[in-house]
Parts: sequence; structure tokens; C-alpha cells
Amino acid sequence: MSDDMMIREHLRSVRAEIAAARTRRTHVPPDAPVELIAVTKNHPVEAMRTAIDDGVMNIGENRIQEALDKAENLEREVKWHLIGHLQTNKAKHAVRQFDLIHSVDSMRLAREIDRAAEKFGKVQNILVQVNLAREVSKSGIYREDLGALLTDVDRLPHVRLQGFMCIAPNYDDVERCRPLFRDMYELFQEAKETEPPKADIRYLSMGMTHDYAIAVEEGANLVRVGTGIFGARQYQTVGV
Ligand SMILES: *Cc1c(COP(=O)(O)O)cnc(C)c1O
Repeated sequence: MSDDMMIREHLRSVRAEIAAARTRRTHVPPDAPVELIAVTKNHPVEAMRTAIDDGVMNIGENRIQEALDKAENLEREVKWHLIGHLQTNKAKHAVRQFDLIHSVDSMRLAREIDRAAEKFGKVQNILVQVNLAREVSKSGIYREDLGALLTDVDRLPHVRLQGFMCIAPNYDDVERCRPLFRDMYELFQEAKETEPPKADIRYLSMGMTHDYAIAVEEGANLVRVGTGIFGARQYQTVGV
């Protein structure tokens, strides 16, 4: 099978799996929509084009430089999501390229993004990354610090908070992610009810290849799938 055909076939099954997961929801409205982000890090531009031509409207990348290089060659309109950790000194490049930055986890970073967005004449949409499982190896803010961050972020004129992102621990038994996703959904609902004045809370980004079905059951509305669409990543230099 060609890469092109494989990607289309994988997309078909991921979409079917998302639709099936929505019907299994127990405490989330089944009609609440889910958007698929195709995570293309370490995959070439040709693979991105195939996915986009098959209807993918959201692309996720981890690294700024890789995204900038690919964007130059893509020749397609698409919504860009930065899902990887962002260093403050790269904020201006991130603001230039990305429609939604999922990985904001400190006021220092939010302030840098605000400054860059002002120069760029843009209001940057962001998600706050929450480290609900308190994994020391992962980025993200702890739950107890979230309230203060949301209040402070809301004062930044060129940043608009749109919701939350989380990365679940890589458990062998994927069911163990469920309580965490459920807590994230609760936190998301709470934040919507008590929304800071400038915020526009609408996205809950959770679920990757191994756990997106459970994430959708528990209320994710943005899922980030790489391997499940494009196959295993080749960790070498990727041509563009
Ligand atoms: C790489 C990555 C993904 C996609 O992971 P897969 O397991 O390949 O689906 C999703 N989210 C983040 C934050 C990532 O870094």
C-alpha cells in the first residue's frame, strides 16, 4: 500500500473511532463535536498534504523550526497548533506561525507571547497546559496554581485563553487515564462557568493515539493523533 493510501485509510478509521466514542459518552453530550488534529511532527510535507486533501483542517507540530520550514512548502491553508513545549525566547516565532498554542504553563511564557503578539498586531489564542497527574517529567501547571494563572493571563491584552490541554501518563492500561480525563472535563466546565472576562473557553485538548477514544468519551473536543494516522515516526532529519 502506498503511504498516501495508508494515511487515507488510517484517517477513515480514526474518524470512525471518534464517532463511535461519542456515542459511548455517559456524562458528556453525545452531540458535542470533536475536532481532529493531525500531528505531523517528524513526518514529511507530502504526508501533511495527503491528510489535508483528505479533509484534515488542523495540523499539530511540536517544534517551531520544523513548522516554519514545512509551512513554507505546504501550499495549503490549515489551522496550526503548537502542541510541544515552548521556550520563552521562541515566543515570537510561535506567534508568527501558530493559530493556537496549547502549551502555555507559566505567566512568564504568557507575557512573552503577549509581547510578541502585540508587535505582530495579533491576539494570540492559547490553551493552558495542565499537569493534573503531577508528573515531574512533564510540562504543565499544577491544578492549585491554575486559578491564579487564569486571572493573570486574562489581564494580557494580546492573549486570549481558549481552554486547556493535558497529556495523560503513558499507562500500559489505558483505562487508567479515564479519571484524569474526567477531572479535566470537570475543570473545563467549571472554567466555562466562571470564565474570566476576556477569555473564550471552548477547547479541551486531550487524547493521543493510544488514549484518544477514552478522551473523547470523557469530553475532549480536540484530539491530537500522530502515529494513528501517519504510522511510527522516524526520528531522523525529515526532508521538507
Ligand atoms: C507527539 C504528540 C502527540 C501525538 O502522539 P501520537 O502518540 O503519535 O498520537 C500528541 N500530543 C502531543 C503533545 C505530542 O507531543
